[in-house]
Amino acid sequence: MQFAIRRFSARVYLVWSVVGMLVTLVVIALLVSDTADMVVGGALIDLGYFFQDPVEESEDVTPDQLWAEMLEHNEMAADVRNRFPRSTHHPKVAMVVCMDARIDTNELVGDTRRYYYVLRLAGSVMSEREEEMLELAVSNGVELVVLTTHTECAAEHVAEDPELRTRYPAIAQAVDERDARRQEFLARPFIASHVADGSLQVREARIDTATGRLSAEE
Ligand SMILES: [Zn+2]
Repeated sequence: MQFAIRRFSARVYLVWSVVGMLVTLVVIALLVSDTADMVVGGALIDLGYFFQDPVEESEDVTPDQLWAEMLEHNEMAADVRNRFPRSTHHPKVAMVVCMDARIDTNELVGDTRRYYYVLRLAGSVMSEREEEMLELAVSNGVELVVLTTHTECAAEHVAEDPELRTRYPAIAQAVDERDARRQEFLARPFIASHVADGSLQVREARIDTATGRLSAEE
């Protein structure tokens, strides 16, 4: 009996030694490696997604209740932010992304550091205002602008459907003009000169809405 207890204790001791060693290795990696910070931070955020994702929405909810819930969640989130303030960054990257709720831009880039300017626009279509905002962002240090579109885009669907085009003419027209707007942005003298001297790149990419994977378009 004594022998069995001793063997059990030895096994527990071994398990805790391994756990302790792993924890120590993770802590050291976090202290010395930016990559470890990103990977471990990302894993913890994914753990949060894992817990929140299955939370069911109530069917019979009124707009008043939604607003109250939003304020309540904001109160909690702002309180946490107040206790654990975050650093601010001057983003080097700006992205234009459709407003589709299935696309989470933090997930898209695996980064929650506010390292990206993000323009969420219906159908990813810029107007002159957004072109000016992007130019302002470039003058503040942005070196990469990523213009995205995505699969299963409701705005593209509207543009392709004659009936929906009649009902939502402004969206249809915007999608029709998307490429021309992009060319207009690239032709702005400030943007064109920065692209020409290599201090700015403007890339286009399509997002697979189901997987969040980016495919670069040449
Ligand atoms: Zn869309």
